[in-house]
Amino acid sequence: MTTIRNNLQRVHQRIADACAQAQRPVTDVTLLAVSKTFGPDAVRQAYEAGQSAFGENYIQEAVEKIALLRDLPLQWHCIGPVQSNKTRLVAGHFDWVHSIDRLKTAQRLSEQRPPELAPLQVCIQVNIDGGATKAGVAPKDVAALAAEIAALPRLKLRGLMTIPEPVDDFAAQRALHMRTRALFDQLREAGLPLDTLSMGMTADLEAAILAGSTMVRVGTAIFGGRPPLSSRA
Ligand SMILES: *Cc1c(COP(=O)(O)O)cnc(C)c1O
Repeated sequence: MTTIRNNLQRVHQRIADACAQAQRPVTDVTLLAVSKTFGPDAVRQAYEAGQSAFGENYIQEAVEKIALLRDLPLQWHCIGPVQSNKTRLVAGHFDWVHSIDRLKTAQRLSEQRPPELAPLQVCIQVNIDGGATKAGVAPKDVAALAAEIAALPRLKLRGLMTIPEPVDDFAAQRALHMRTRALFDQLREAGLPLDTLSMGMTADLEAAILAGSTMVRVGTAIFGGRPPLSSRA
């Protein structure tokens, strides 16, 4: 029963060690616990161990979980693909969306964000390694999209998110994350007030923190292994 608590402790230690190595204050990096495929009990255990920000990929699953956990002061981050027919659910239930990859989605989210809620905090997902079939905006198109999203009234553009293809080699992981970091720096230099670089997962959070990540999204190291996608309904 204490596994999630122990796992969280270990992840916090990894983050602290990486921050020390990068000579960054540990307060620079937020831990997002990715609870996709795990039930509300697992989220509750993580909350009791001090975790309050959770990431979800599948909208329907997330909305059910969010409803069951209404009694807790949790922050919910959408990190999965957002189809047009899901924007209203996302706008009504989440605090953040990391996976914006087109203007149309951003416009719908802004229009559909309920007036009683704070602006939706968003990141643009960047296809940094050029995966042909992958979600995310090509690096060359990010600046134009960022300028348009920054002008939407009910969204607040916070930064960039990436999901690079897994590579084992630490230097390669870091080099890829450094490319996203460079793009982030360019946008800031152009005057956009961005503060969030959402990159790094269980396998590469150290490399991401060395490259400047401010939010690591960790699932497996906290909740354990997930069933393969093919076995999901
Ligand atoms: C599942 C997922 C994660 C967490 O991955 P782990 O390797 O389990 O830490 C992070 N980000 C996104 C977008 C994901 O889909």
